[in-house]
This record gives sequence, structure tokens and C-alpha cells, in this order.
Amino acid sequence: MEIFDAVIVGSGPAGLGAAFALLEARPGLSILILDREQYSTGGLRNDCKMNFTFPIGFPQENWEREEAEHYLEQVKAVLKPNILPKENLLTYQKRAERLGVELLNVQQTHLGTDGGLELIKQLTTRLQEKDVKFALKEEMHGISESEHVIHTDKRTIGFKSLIIAPGRQGFRFLQKIMDDLNVSYVDHIVDIGVRIETRVEHYPIVTDYYDPKFMFPGKVRTFCTNSGNAYVVQERYHTQHNEVYHSVNGHAYSKKRGSGNGLANFAMLKTVRLTEPLASGQQFAEILGMQADVLGGGRPLMQRVGDFRLGKRSKESTFNDDLYDFQPTLKSASPGDISLATPSKILRAIWKSMKQLDTIIPGILHPSTIMYYPEIKLYANKPQYMDKHFQVVKDVYFAGDGAGTSRGITAAWASGIRVAEGILSK
Ligand SMILES: Cc1cc2nc3c(=O)[nH]c(=O)nc-3n(C[C@H](O)[C@H](O)[C@H](O)COP(=O)(O)OP(=O)(O)OC[C@H]3O[C@@H](n4cnc5c(N)ncnc54)[C@H](O)[C@@H]3O)c2cc1C
Repeated sequence: MEIFDAVIVGSGPAGLGAAFALLEARPGLSILILDREQYSTGGLRNDCKMNFTFPIGFPQENWEREEAEHYLEQVKAVLKPNILPKENLLTYQKRAERLGVELLNVQQTHLGTDGGLELIKQLTTRLQEKDVKFALKEEMHGISESEHVIHTDKRTIGFKSLIIAPGRQGFRFLQKIMDDLNVSYVDHIVDIGVRIETRVEHYPIVTDYYDPKFMFPGKVRTFCTNSGNAYVVQERYHTQHNEVYHSVNGHAYSKKRGSGNGLANFAMLKTVRLTEPLASGQQFAEILGMQADVLGGGRPLMQRVGDFRLGKRSKESTFNDDLYDFQPTLKSASPGDISLATPSKILRAIWKSMKQLDTIIPGILHPSTIMYYPEIKLYANKPQYMDKHFQVVKDVYFAGDGAGTSRGITAAWASGIRVAEGILSK
């Protein structure tokens, strides 16, 4: 059986961040990075826009501004981002402020889905040159803590330190590991919302500010804006009872790739924090996801704003060029009525925020704008950590989105560095 100084499960930004930080401090360490996929499945692979300003991506219960900013500098040193310029920021901010809405000034870069893939290849090559071993298409199944070994679908591997960073898709896997290790956790927070798709001229701010972060009253925010050559996609999830539901998402290609489709998409998400009786955010989200799937015939729902305003469902015939001016990019979505599927408290908060947004940047409430539902973000596993390095039991650490330590590429990378520092301090 092979034994490594560090085994890293997950080749997303959290895992990569940990590997780079470990090797920078101790170049001779033996490191294995394991991933069940050929390429990391998260945001590095999809759209790859990176935010370098606190608190974007940093759950504030785990991060103070100062420490996050300190780590962000280290993330920049490895990723060397080209920060995008912004125009007319003050004008937008003033308009927002009048409505009690905040527009954050966030340092951003955007590589696009194609550019992200190139970055993954570069980073992987850099690590391989430092003798890091990659085991792709190999999935961790379990752990024997006392023996310091993990079990994969192919073999048993020994570790001195183990970093588990399986991302949002590994949310349930991580819960199983926590149950096995007797680590207590809660997952009572979830983000639920819609993805808006419209023509760039109906949301022109995107030409001034690539991914504008608006924070509305009522815990609603804009999230993950894509434009130029932008597409809405659907993701498939399994519930704990192995039933299927879908969530929508979005991405864009870089400027290098073609002339674009002239569309923009972004999520309007409401954070739901369940309190008493403390319920599982995951379970709640799964039920909402399945409810939408039932109404959409096994597909996400989509509705034109024009229909929504009139209280009418959208139909196939609503999505033709005669009536409106663009086709949905997620062709598989089902025309319907999102208000039948969304809890009213969530939908009311989102609709109110959309009206505010339309006042700040007139256009998004154009009747042609499409609202896709549901967009669900499950990142709120909150394990009980032993220390600030996200150690859960001796020599076992969690990092990244699946463990609730981050909500974005750069913060996931930072969480990997923080874990590495914990390992190096031993
Ligand atoms: C479609 C999409 C677009 C996104 N766009 C952006 C964006 O533009 N900007 C941004 O900041 N964030 C974006 N995000 C969020 C971003 O992906 C995450 O915040 C970030 O990738 C989290 O990093 P991570 O390392 O925790 O997990 P991930 O990047 O998800 O990596 C986890 C890895 O672990 C592997 N894995 C899981 N379970 C196992 C197992 N049992 N055994 C072995 N391997 C396993 C997975 O295959 C995966 O490659 C996007 C997410 C999605 C899904």
C-alpha cells in the first residue's frame, strides 16, 4: 500500500490551493491528488470568474476580513489574475443606495469555460513538475481513521494528513464521512432562487462590470453573472433517497471564442436560514427541487417575465421569435409557471429585488426576460471544526465549498491554504 505525506481528495481550487501551499513550504512532500472526474468539476471548469474581494465567497462565520485578505494575496500570487476594469461604478452605486441596495466593488477576472480548462491544465502540469501524483477517475468511498487509510473504488491508500475537498457535488459524500468520523454538523442554510436570462442591452451594466454583486434587503443577492457568450445550463442532483432533481446554473465562454450570443444571465438568490425546529437545508432544497421537477416534467421551469407579470404560465408558443426577441439558451427547460413551484416568501423577496434592480438598471423586467427555476446552492454543511485550520479529527481536514468553508473559487483556494498551514504547523 502506498502512503503519502498528504492525500488530497478533490482537484478543485481547494485541493489545488492546499497542494501549492504545502509544496511551497516543503518541496519534498509526497502528495497524491485524487478526483473521481478527469477534470475538477466546479467553477474552475465552468465559467471561471474569480472574485478577489472579501466577503465574496467567504462565509463570514469562518473568515475575518483581515485573514481572508491575507490569503487572497497568496491566491493572487499563484493565479496571477488580470483584474477587469469597471466603468460608471459610482453612478450605479448611488442609484442602488437610494433604494437601500448595496453594489459591492469587487475585483474580478473572467477566463470563461474554455479559459478555465486551460488554467486547470496549466496548474496540473505545474504540480506534476513538482512530483505531485494525480489519480483521476478514482473515487474515495470511505476512511479508516485509526489506520490512517482511505478506501477508493480501486485501492486502499495511506496518508499522514488527509484533506477532503469534494465541492458542492460532494456534499452528501462529506456527510457520510462526517457520520463515519462522528463529526457533528448542521446544514441549515440554503440559497434558493431563479436564474435570469436577458439580452445584454436589457442589463447593460455587464459591459461596465462583469459580475455586479448587488445585495438587496431581504437576503437576496445577484450571483454568478455571465455575459457576451453566455448560456444557462442544468445540473442533475440526487437526493438522499436517490431521486433526481435539477438546478440551473450559468456560464460563458471567453472573448476568444466566437462573437457571442449577446445574452446575459445571472442568479437572484435568497438565503434561507432555518432555525427552530432546526431542519436540514439540504432536505428542504431537495423537496423544492423535486417539486419543480414534477411541475416541469423532469426538467427545470422557465417563464417569461411578461407572462409572470400577468399571472400566466409560459407555453412553448411563448418561446418563439415572433413574440419575443431571443430564444432560451437552456432549450431543455420546461415552459411553465414558476410561482406554482416556488414558496411565496422566497418568490416575493426575489420579485421585489428584481423590481429594485430594474429601477437601478432599467431593462431586466422587459417581457422577454426569462426566469429559470430552481437555482439551488447547497454549500452550508457546517461541521464542528477542531481548530481554525478546518481539522475535523486528528490529521483529517476539510476544505472548500462542500465543507462550508467557501462559496467560490478564490475562497476555496484560500481554505486549502489555511488547511495546508495547519498541516505544516505540526
Ligand atoms: C457550473 C458552475 C459554475 C461555477 N462558476 C463559478 C465561477 O464562475 N466563479 C466562482 O468563483 N465559482 C463558481 N462556481 C462555484 C465554484 O465551483 C466553487 O466555489 C469551487 O469550485 C469550490 O471549490 P472546491 O475545491 O471546494 O470544489 P470543486 O471545485 O467542486 O472540486 C471538488 C472536486 O472533488 C471531486 N470529488 C467529489 N467527491 C469525490 C470523491 N468521493 N472522490 C474523489 N473526488 C471527489 C469532484 O469531482 C470535484 O472535481 C461554479 C460552480 C458551478 C457548479
